[in-house]
Amino acid sequence: MNKKTKIIATIGPASESVEILRQLIDKGVNLFRFNLKHNNFEWHKKTINKAKEVAKALNKKVGIIVDFQGPEIRVETKNGEDLEIKGGESFFIATHFIEEQKTITVTPPSVIKQIKNNEIIFIDSGELELRVINKKGNVLEVKTERDGIIKNRKSMNIPSANLDLPLLADKDMEALIKIGEMEIDYIALSFVRNKEDIEILKKLLLKINPKIKIIAKIENASAIKNLEEIVSIADGVMVARGDLGIEVPIRELAFWQKKIIDLCRNKNKPVIVATQMLKSMVNSLRPTRAEATDVSNAIFDGVDALMLSEETAIGNYPVRVVEEMVNIAIFCENNGNIREVKIETRNPTEVLVEAAVRIIKDSKNVPIKTVIIFTESGNTARIFSKYRLNMPILAISDKKETVEELALSYGVNPYYKKFQENNFKISKKLIEELTGFDFIKSGDNLLLIHGNNWMESGSTSDISLITV
Ligand code: PGA
Ligand code: MN
Repeated sequence: MNKKTKIIATIGPASESVEILRQLIDKGVNLFRFNLKHNNFEWHKKTINKAKEVAKALNKKVGIIVDFQGPEIRVETKNGEDLEIKGGESFFIATHFIEEQKTITVTPPSVIKQIKNNEIIFIDSGELELRVINKKGNVLEVKTERDGIIKNRKSMNIPSANLDLPLLADKDMEALIKIGEMEIDYIALSFVRNKEDIEILKKLLLKINPKIKIIAKIENASAIKNLEEIVSIADGVMVARGDLGIEVPIRELAFWQKKIIDLCRNKNKPVIVATQMLKSMVNSLRPTRAEATDVSNAIFDGVDALMLSEETAIGNYPVRVVEEMVNIAIFCENNGNIREVKIETRNPTEVLVEAAVRIIKDSKNVPIKTVIIFTESGNTARIFSKYRLNMPILAISDKKETVEELALSYGVNPYYKKFQENNFKISKKLIEELTGFDFIKSGDNLLLIHGNNWMESGSTSDISLITV
């Protein structure tokens, strides 16, 4: 199987067992996501270690993403119990539970004083729509038109407000302290607002674990406004459609999805499309037509990775849903056309990679089967990947973190290899080793992109064509 689209599975009660983790990897999951919003840190730590062991036993590379809540707002109900609301009824949002009145509180509580009269508030991904009808100090009286149930810890969105919130939630801070010695590849930062948010987290990580990279989750209007600067500074980007679909009008969602993907490809940043991709499969063995089409369209848009959320975290068919996604991906990759993006070459490595792409496209009579990229930081592999050619990319690195990070990039098969000498040579031994990969056959023409001085980041300078 040479699937090029990468798949991220969110892990939860439906997928935390060794057996399911094993099957998920086996069916084609490339990265696991651990969402700090749910469960405590001990659970995450234990399950991350378990997932790592399962991957090791299967001799597969699987990346780990820890999803930070960021400046996100959550509601709390009294004693964590469901709160039933009747249409037309008013109730309260406050910093404390008011005696004899239906009340919910919020974290962080500093939000309340920033909400204005008449403002619209959404709860639980828009399940409930409230309007502020009266504000007195730290108490908001709100009203909804429809019946609904507010569950503890559900999300709250106030799209019209430009809120001043702390960058990291308490659970994020707790994780940050403990994450130092763990094998984690990416932190996904929810509700990124601007490049400063990422800079602050990067600075914190410098002291804790500088190998961890940051995925910016685009899920509110500020992130849309500051898209260019965020994409430029992030290591990866997620189109977080769950919250984005509330924070901007839902009719704009497909437009932004394409825009974000194009921008990421232009800037060599891996891009993920997330949320409700195959949602009906939480309860059903088959996806809806709209969902299957949505997955296909994300691939045709040129995404690097697709993410499953509740489908694998709490769904009834966590393995089946991955199989379905893999089947759609492989068909689309081999039969459809991925959107072309305007590609600018801005540095010598990009010029060299573009030349390599041209060689591959022009050499129809001497078909090149696989491209092999020797990369320190992974950058050369990401540049090549953005062209979305229908061929396997073998990215060889002697940096373990590069190998794991590349799990997110379209078409890249990352491979760890320690080189002895500093001078790059295409030796007989190397050729023999290359033919050990299942997608490289004896007699294949291979294009190698490498630096003359191996082990120096940014030194990519050579293209070689070899027949094995
Ligand atoms: P979440 O992020 O699942 O952590 O909310 C993804 C999204 O909002 O789409
Ligand atoms: Mn979200």
